[in-house]
Amino acid sequence: VESVLPSTNTEMKKRIANARHELADGDAIFAEIQTAGRGRHGRTWLAPIGGSLTFSMYWSFPDGYQSMAGLSLMVGLAVCEALKDFGVDDAELKWPNDIYLQGKKLAGILIEVEGQIGATAHSVIGIGLNVCVPDSQYDVGQPHSDLTSYLGHTPDRNSLAAAIIKSLWTLLPKFTQQGFGPFAPHWEALDLYADKRIVLQMGEKRFSGIDRGVDASGALLVETQDGITRFHGGEVSLRGN
Ligand code: ATP
Repeated sequence: VESVLPSTNTEMKKRIANARHELADGDAIFAEIQTAGRGRHGRTWLAPIGGSLTFSMYWSFPDGYQSMAGLSLMVGLAVCEALKDFGVDDAELKWPNDIYLQGKKLAGILIEVEGQIGATAHSVIGIGLNVCVPDSQYDVGQPHSDLTSYLGHTPDRNSLAAAIIKSLWTLLPKFTQQGFGPFAPHWEALDLYADKRIVLQMGEKRFSGIDRGVDASGALLVETQDGITRFHGGEVSLRGN
């Protein structure tokens, strides 16, 4: 646990580079303040002091980065599982990496990976969760929700952290052995845009269709009149329509 870090993901990546042998699966780094919290594609993640839970966990994949397919989706599920113990049973998941509550973004997941192709992949699982980030006080760039507004009280962040870590420790070994496949139906049950019209943005390109869930690799299945097209995470951003 650190009081101030630029980003817990950046710190974890540094530790992977410097001391790979000293890291064990499930090790986590927490920061009270992130001065340069990140989202995908260099975007910013805002975490007010004391109001959010931001941490990064290390997990290795001996079979290489291909065996990480669907990891950000599985992590979203693990967080939703943990939140149930705190009275949050209607969180939803937005492919590939966000957690929504009452239609607004509650948490973001940022997966990064270090390692050579063909060798063990060293993953960094970053999570930023809004605990007490009132919409009226903070403009984070898009509508967002927080646990305090939803529950009417602020849950204890240490207990939240412990529950999320426990959930990840429970699900990650199964994911490492069996991949995302067994988790896909559970993910689809929480899909924010299930059977809805969506727009996918890939740089300047747009693609629209109906969200028909995910396959065993975590790819999104989008239906158009031409049939089903699969989309993998990476550069794709999803919007409702
Ligand atoms: P994508 O669908 O491509 O993931 P995204 O807008 O969800 O798009 P992310 O990279 O996942 O992008 O997250 C970064 C974005 O999240 C920021 O650009 C900002 O709009 C928003 N954001 C930043 N801080 C918070 C926060 N504390 N709570 C909710 N949303 C936030």
